[in-house]
Amino acid sequence: MPQISRKVAIIGAGLSGLSAAIRLSEMEDPPEIHLFESLAHLGGRASSNWFPDEKLLLDSAQHVTMNCCTEMLDFLRRTDLLRFWKLQPEMTFCVRQTGKKSGKLAFYPLKNSRILPKPLHLLPSLWGLKFLTLTERFELLGILRQIRHGSPSPGVPFRDWLEELLCPHRVAELFFGPVILSAFSDQMENVSAQIAQSVFRQIFCGPRDAWQMWVPQAPLREIFDSALTPTLEKRGIRIHRQTSVKRLFADRLVLSPSETDAPTEFPFDAAILAVPWHRAGKILPELVTQKTFNPDVFEPRTIASVHFFADRELFPQENLVFPSETIQWLFKVPFLREEHGFQALLSDSDRCVSTNSGAIEQIVHAELQMLFPEATFSRFRVTRVPAAVFSCNAWMEHARPTVLTPFPTVFLAGDWTSTGLPATMESAVRSGSKAAEETRFFLENLPENAPKRA
Ligand SMILES: Cc1cc2nc3c(=O)[nH]c(=O)nc-3n(C[C@H](O)[C@H](O)[C@H](O)COP(=O)(O)OP(=O)(O)OC[C@H]3O[C@@H](n4cnc5c(N)ncnc54)[C@H](O)[C@@H]3O)c2cc1C
Repeated sequence: MPQISRKVAIIGAGLSGLSAAIRLSEMEDPPEIHLFESLAHLGGRASSNWFPDEKLLLDSAQHVTMNCCTEMLDFLRRTDLLRFWKLQPEMTFCVRQTGKKSGKLAFYPLKNSRILPKPLHLLPSLWGLKFLTLTERFELLGILRQIRHGSPSPGVPFRDWLEELLCPHRVAELFFGPVILSAFSDQMENVSAQIAQSVFRQIFCGPRDAWQMWVPQAPLREIFDSALTPTLEKRGIRIHRQTSVKRLFADRLVLSPSETDAPTEFPFDAAILAVPWHRAGKILPELVTQKTFNPDVFEPRTIASVHFFADRELFPQENLVFPSETIQWLFKVPFLREEHGFQALLSDSDRCVSTNSGAIEQIVHAELQMLFPEATFSRFRVTRVPAAVFSCNAWMEHARPTVLTPFPTVFLAGDWTSTGLPATMESAVRSGSKAAEETRFFLENLPENAPKRA
């Protein structure tokens, strides 16, 4: 009799579901893997939108990953997707000057010293952040040292911890605030000091190049959908696009392939639920009724991006960080370089800017005109993603569920599960690997004669 392999259903083809699928396909005796995605494309939140009038595929917002995100980089390597990403060994802060040179832009690059060993490798660059006074820079180095060695109490927000460490106000606002906003899409008064410390340690105290950034060079949909699909198919992973999972039971899914088709059932031996926190309890209500997690404690944060074109090259770098403007980052869009296509990034935009796309466009346009008075800007496109990430506030760590659910056959994945990381691609990939590992262990320990799902 031919061997019938075990069947695993993965619900959600974001990075957590994709990472789980890849891991499972690498098992010695891989199960039959079925990936169910309600949308027409793979990638989940790490994706792009098609603007038919402009014939442009633009990312919902710029995604970057750091060199310290080893699981994400490993995923990109194993799927041959790293070729779409470029390592950037330098990051540049940009500040409008005051005084005699009022209005002019000053650039402060952050890069590794060629000679100083770790942990001193960033010392000259940090010392060169001259938008801070000499005393403030001295204080900054001291605070970074205390962050490295200190131990904040559980439940303390990062801003309170900075105050305990006697961090000067301007150092908090111009250095730590922008780093926290970029990493967490949240404010220092919300983010837990413990999780912020672990991120700072990874970025600034890890290997010399841990803080360096990888930037995608193609639209995310081209990477995580067009380029990845053949790899998934080659590994035998069956992809069911535009197939929404309505309900998950211990042994089967109820599917709704399209609006017109009647719901169908899909039996499985094991399943991985890899959807965002606000969807999980709807598909598997037992998660909420049996108190695996409470979706109401997750506070969503919005990220907005504004794509636009300029009539010229605005700056020589690939991207700029603005610690004292409404625009937090400006990126050149690599595949729109010749047309001078740019993207302004606004994390936690509902609170930092506005909930209204028209107002966001106006504010960004006005600020661009102030930063680059000679340039002319056109074709603005605002994208707001309301539940882009969740707040990593001080009580969140206890609220994030593990990979286990009330059903021994069902496992959880997603950037929101208890990975110890903010809501990032690294967190999603890590959660997917963990769920795949638990699934493998579960399948390997099923009794030989347990019925297999045909
Ligand atoms: C605007 C924005 C900017 C970001 N910037 C960065 C960044 O720079 N760096 C970084 O590391 N991270 C960034 N992130 C976060 C990162 O995108 C996410 O952490 C990561 O993509 C989450 O992956 P996931 O698999 O956990 O969830 P998702 O990507 O949300 O995937 C879940 C999938 O499940 C599908 N689904 C939902 N319900 C069903 C159903 N009923 N049936 C079938 N399928 C279903 C969804 O369509 C989706 O494809 C950003 C996110 C956003 C939105």
